[in-house]
Amino acid sequence: MRGVDEQQYLDLCRDVRGGSLYPMTKDMNMAELVVHIERSVQRIAHALLKSRLAEDPRSDPPEPVCCKCQGKLRIQEHAQRRQINTAIGEIEYWRAYGVCDRCGHTAAPLDEALGIPSFGPSVEVMRKISHAAATARSFGMAADILKEHAGIEMSAKQVRVNSEAEGARAAAARALEVESFRKGAQIAGPGAAADLIVVTADGGRIQTRQSDKDKEDDEKGGVWKEDKVGAVYDASPRKDPAARKAPEYDGAKALMKTYAATMQSWDEFGYMLRVEAQKRGYMEAKEKLFISDGAQSLRTFRQDHFREATFILDWYHAVEHLSGCAKAAFAENTEEYVAWYKRVKKKLWAGNLDGVIESIEKESARVGKPQPKEHESSPRVILHRNIGYFSDNRDGMDYPRFRAEGWPIGSGVAEGAVKQFGMRLKGSEKFWNGFGFGPGAEEMLALCALHRSEDGRWEEYWRRRAQPSARHNSR
Ligand SMILES: [Zn+2]
Repeated sequence: MRGVDEQQYLDLCRDVRGGSLYPMTKDMNMAELVVHIERSVQRIAHALLKSRLAEDPRSDPPEPVCCKCQGKLRIQEHAQRRQINTAIGEIEYWRAYGVCDRCGHTAAPLDEALGIPSFGPSVEVMRKISHAAATARSFGMAADILKEHAGIEMSAKQVRVNSEAEGARAAAARALEVESFRKGAQIAGPGAAADLIVVTADGGRIQTRQSDKDKEDDEKGGVWKEDKVGAVYDASPRKDPAARKAPEYDGAKALMKTYAATMQSWDEFGYMLRVEAQKRGYMEAKEKLFISDGAQSLRTFRQDHFREATFILDWYHAVEHLSGCAKAAFAENTEEYVAWYKRVKKKLWAGNLDGVIESIEKESARVGKPQPKEHESSPRVILHRNIGYFSDNRDGMDYPRFRAEGWPIGSGVAEGAVKQFGMRLKGSEKFWNGFGFGPGAEEMLALCALHRSEDGRWEEYWRRRAQPSARHNSR
C-alpha cells in the first residue's frame, strides 16, 4: 500500500497546477474561480490526508499495547478497512486491528493514537454537526446549514442522532462533576475573586406532541414539560446613593455569562447550577446575588442551594404580578386600571412594600374572598394569592437599596436563555414523536448550554474530545 497513495497525491498536485484536472477558462467569474480552486484544494487535501494515513507508522505497530490495561494487543487483521467522514470528505484507510486477551478491549492502535472515535464521523465533523444542531431551530434546518456551509450531506435524522450522542457525552461529563460535588469534592473557582457573582434561574414550558394513541383526553394539544435554565455571570457594580431615588436605572452589566439547563427536577438542577456557580467563583466573590421570580419552586430552590446569596426578586416579574392584580381588580385599560397600576408600581419602585400590600388587600377585600375550589384565573383568587406573593417575597424587593448598590435587578439573562433554548427544543419537537419526550431534550439542553457559555468551554470541550484515548487514560 505504502507509496501508492503518495504517488497519487503527487500526480494530483501536478494535474491541478497544470490545469488539466479543472481547467481555468479565461471567461470565469470570481464565484466560479473560488468554487474551482476550492474543489482543487479539497481534492489535494483529501489525497494528502489519505497518503499521510497510509504512511503512519502507528498504523501497524510492532508491539501494540492495550490502552485500557497496558497489556499486549493481539493483532487480528493487519490491514482492516475503515471509512470515516471528515471535514474534507469521506476518507478510506487501512490499519491494524486487534484484541486484548487480558481485558477484552478491541482497538485499532492508529485510531486510538489519532483520537478517531471508534464509530461515527470524525471529531471535527461532530463539532460542526453539534454546532448546527445547537444553533438552528430544528434538525432539518441544521442539516441544510451543514450542506450549504460545510458540504456535509446528512439527513435531519442523522443530525439528530449524532448531536444527541454528543449532548449525552456533555451531559455525562457534567453529571460526573455534580456527583463528585455532592460527595463533598471541592470545586475551584477562577484565580481572582469577582466583585459580584450573580446567579439567576427561570423555568420555561415546552409543549410536546405525542402520538395520538398515547394521548389521554386531557392531554389534547400536547404535554407540557418544564425546562430549567440558569445563568451565572460576574459584574462590577458601582455604588451610587443617588440611584435610591432615581426614576430610571441600569444595573451593573453582565460580563461573562455561563449556563446550565436541564429537564431534571428543580433539586437536581440546584446542584447543577451550584456547581456552575462554584466554578465561576461564587464562594470567593465579594458579593453574591440570586435573582429570580418568586414562584414557590424557585424559592425552595434558592433556600436549598443559594442560601449565601442576597435574594432579588426580578423587577419585571414583580411588575407583571402588579399588572395581573390591576387586571383582576378593574377592567383592562380603563382609567382606574391605569391609575391603580401606575400608583402601585411607583410604591414598589420606592420600596414601599407595606403600601403595595395594602393596595392589593384593599382591592381583594372589595372583590371578595375566593370561594372553595374557585378557578385560579378568577380575580378573587388572583388578588388573594398576590397578597401572599408580595408578603412572602418582600425581602427580595428592596429595590432602592439594590439600586444604590449598583446591582442588577432583572433576571433577563436567564429568561433570554430560557427563550432561546426553549425555541430550539420546540423546533425539534416533531422529531421526538414516538420517542417520548425525555431523551433528546436533555441532551440538546446540555449542548445548548455548552455552546452558549462565554468562557471558552466549547473550544475546550472539542480540544479534549480530539485527544487520543491513550492520553485520556494517562491523566
Ligand atoms: Zn487490555
